[in-house]
Parts: sequence; C-alpha cells; structure tokens
Amino acid sequence: MQKKRKYLFITGGVVSSLGKGLTTASIALLLEKKGFKVALLKLDPYLNVDPGTMNPFQHGEVYVTDDGAETDLDLGHYHRYTTSNLSRASTATSGQIYDAVIKRERRGDYLGNTVQVIPHITDEIKHRIIQCGDKEDADVVLTEIGGTVGDIESLPFLEAIRQFLYEHPRDSLNVHLTYVPYLKAAGEVKTKPTQHSVQVLRSIGIIPDMILCRSEQSLSEELKAKISLFCNVPPNRVFDEIDVETSIYEVPLMLEKQRVASTLCELLSLEDCPVDLSDWVYLIEKIKHPKGKLTVGIVGKYLQHQDAYKSVFEALEHGAIAAGYSIEIKTFNSDELDFSIELSGCNGYLVPGGFGSRGWEGMIYAASYCRKNKIPYLGICLGMQSMVVDFARHVLGLEQANSTEIDPNTPHPVISLLSEQKNVTDLGGTMRLGAYPCSLNEKSLAYRAYKKSKISERHRHRYEFNNKYLQSFKDHGLEVSGLYEEGNLCEIVEIKDHPWMVGVQFHPELKSRPTDPHPLFRDFIQAMIGHG
Ligand code: GLN
Repeated sequence: MQKKRKYLFITGGVVSSLGKGLTTASIALLLEKKGFKVALLKLDPYLNVDPGTMNPFQHGEVYVTDDGAETDLDLGHYHRYTTSNLSRASTATSGQIYDAVIKRERRGDYLGNTVQVIPHITDEIKHRIIQCGDKEDADVVLTEIGGTVGDIESLPFLEAIRQFLYEHPRDSLNVHLTYVPYLKAAGEVKTKPTQHSVQVLRSIGIIPDMILCRSEQSLSEELKAKISLFCNVPPNRVFDEIDVETSIYEVPLMLEKQRVASTLCELLSLEDCPVDLSDWVYLIEKIKHPKGKLTVGIVGKYLQHQDAYKSVFEALEHGAIAAGYSIEIKTFNSDELDFSIELSGCNGYLVPGGFGSRGWEGMIYAASYCRKNKIPYLGICLGMQSMVVDFARHVLGLEQANSTEIDPNTPHPVISLLSEQKNVTDLGGTMRLGAYPCSLNEKSLAYRAYKKSKISERHRHRYEFNNKYLQSFKDHGLEVSGLYEEGNLCEIVEIKDHPWMVGVQFHPELKSRPTDPHPLFRDFIQAMIGHG
C-alpha cells in the first residue's frame, strides 16, 4: 500500500530569532528517532535567488549542500540534528519561486492568462513542498517558513500553506512557534503578543494545530489554558520551549519530555513509538561535565555577526565534546589585528573562509604566528590560502606572494583563479560549489584523521593553490596531502615540521554533527590539548 505522506509547517510569531530552525530540526530528529523518514524544507521570503551573494553581516553563514546549493544556515541545524539528505530541493526563496514563474511566463507557458500571486506563485510554492518529499520519498516533510507572521514578504508562503492545509486536511498541520515574554515591570508573563500573532495567522486562514511558546521559564497550566482559549488550540497542544541550561542540543530532550512528537503523531495518525535518545542524553552529560577547558582563537572578519561562522563554531564544539572538554572561543577581528601585539592565550587558532581583501593580512599573520610558534592551526578555505601565502612569503622568500583575489598583479600568484572561473560573469551560484572527491596521502595528518584515503567534502570558492609552485613548496616542507585527482587541484596542505597545521580548501564544518564530530575538527581539538 502506498504510504500517505505527512506535512508539518512551522511558522514563527512575535519576533525573529526564536530558534525556529532549531525547533524544526529538533522535531525532525524526534520523528526520525520514531522511525520516520523526514525531509526538510526551508522557505525564505527574500527576493535573492539564494543567499550566496549576500553579505555574511546581513545573512550569516551560507550553508552549502552536496549538490552545490547555497542555502540558509538553518539547513546546518537540520544537518546537525538529523540524518536527512539535504539538497537543492531543501530550500526555496521568493526570488527562486518568482524566477521560475517568470521564466515560464516568458516561454509562453501561461499564454492567454494573467500571471498572478494566486494561483501561480502559490502553486509553485506547493509544488516545491511536494517535490521535497518526493525526492527523499519521505514519510514526513517539515517545512519551515522564514521570517515572522505579519511580514509582507511571507504572505504568499502563508497563503500557499493555507491552501495546502485545506487540500490535505488529515495529512498536514501547522506548528506555531511564538514568544511569551516575562515583563519585569509587571512581574508577569505576558500572552498578548502570542494572541496577536495567532490572530494574524487566523486572519490569513491558518489555525495553528500546536503552539510552542519560547519563554524564559516554564508556563503554568493556567497560562497554557489562557493561550489555548484565546488562540483556539486545545490546552494539551500548548507546549513550552524554555531557554536551555547549557546547550542547544538539549532542545530535543526538552520537547520529548513534553511528548511533542507523540502529539504530532496522534494528530497526523502516524503510528507512535517510544524514542531512544540515549546518544543525545550522553552528549548532554558530556557537555555538562567537561574535564577541562580549551580556548580556540578564530581570526576572521565577519565576527560581529554571531551566525557568520555558525557551522565552524558548532564543529569546534563537537570536537571538544568528543574530547571531553568545553571550548571557549576567542575572536580576533583580522581587520583590526594589531600586528605589534601577538595573538596569545589560545590553545590553537582557526582561520575560517571569507572573501575580499579586508582583514587578509591579519589572517596571514595568524598563519605565520602559528607556524613559527608551532601552535595548532586549522585553515578553512581562505584560511588555507592565507597559510599558503604566509609560507610562500616567509619560507620560500617570495615577499610579494599573494592570492590574485587580493592582488591581481602579484609577481607570485601562489593562489590563483580556477581555470573554470576565468570567463564567469554572473556572481550568483557560479563558484566551485558542492561536493568533490579528494584522495589523501596516507602519510598525512589528514589521513590520520579520516582513516581512509578517499573522502568527499563540500566547496565554495573561486581561487585555488597554484600548482606551478608545487615543487618549491614541497622542497621547503609544505605538503599537499589531499588532491582532487580529476582536476589536479590541491585540496589539503600541511606543514611537515609542525605538530598540527592543516589547511583545507573545502568546508569540513558543514558535515560535522554533535553525535558524529568531523574528523578534522576532532583531531584539531586533540592537538590543542596540552598547547597554550
Ligand atoms: N575567497 C576565496 C576563494 O574564492 C575563499 C573562499 C572561501 O573562503 N569560501 O577562493
């Protein structure tokens, strides 16, 4: 018998930054643990076709999937909490939806008709939701709608969901995440903002099936009853999601305690069963009882935005948990790095990805500092390129060595444009993106970490190690330990006479999970123990 696919729509009310992505990911994990195959979709109301061309200060990290989609950082949460396969089908923006409809209009597919938000845009949105489930042959599709209800931009998405809920009455439902603040002046918890956000939803035609209340403290039964009455949702479907004590990885446990996923199963007529969360309980225990603390310095340039290096921060945490340590992250703005003051006080340093010349010399300085002082260093993408440039300038003696991204006229372009990038004119979606295979040298730190010689990692860059200088680098002690053989591209560099200095052209942070830390982050953390 063909299975009936179920759909969950997660909306947010009152304010942004309530942790809708985390909540969606946590519910997905609980459903996965109950044995259901989940697919996740993030709908973003902005007009950019993808976040790839947005400044990290505005948007935070760009999460890249295996098939090369540049997506919202919430997909990173989905990846960390579940094993669901994320792809181009896991993301859609208003820009993409409109682009698809307008292209069809130009082709003449709607000939004779006026093209409108309803039904053409809403049909395209519903099509994406169905497609996401089909692609993974999922039991449950979880769709998170970016933004907050009441935003003008998200209206077509909410209208599409209203239609979807109407068309699939027994197989779909809305979970509304809202904020219930504690007002100090009144000494009370206030439900009014929640009432208002549900009123907005209802004016669009959506009655929530479940309300999750983000609040500082647990809500009394009385308050839940009040929210229930005003919002038209039974009291046993009003849950609280209070601020977690130690880690965001506690959220699934908190939701499970209240039987959130079981309630969803009941509502969707899905067979419920108990979940085994022992791996997550163990994880939280380890986080709560570290045997020591490590400090890592991040030398980057988007540090004012707390989410710009989201996956890097998380992957460091995963590595530390695996080692039984807690991690403190010290940030150094490479833009303002005062070269007369040495970096200090950290057990290791990480230079993450980035674009453009601002802050570049600070990154090279960080690589130099770690190389000379034999301090563990992990360079990611631009951080790998800064490691190569430092080595060229200060070990090979090529004083003006540079990346052509920064200095197109450098006499020593040790990092240069990938050949396939030479004729690129559009900036959106045209980098070397997504997963590529990489072969490891068996006598390397990389091989020691991965414990296998063939790996696959995800990329997002235009510039690359220049093989013209390969022999010279090798002769002086910088090894290429990972290679994309088909294109003869250097993917990993290591410094021979150093305890742990590794630069990778790809983004390992995107594949790390708390329950399965990335091998490079795990080994970087291990190398940091005892340093500093
Ligand atoms: N700007 C560099 C390049 O395009 C590095 C990119 C990155 O760090 N993601 O190659």
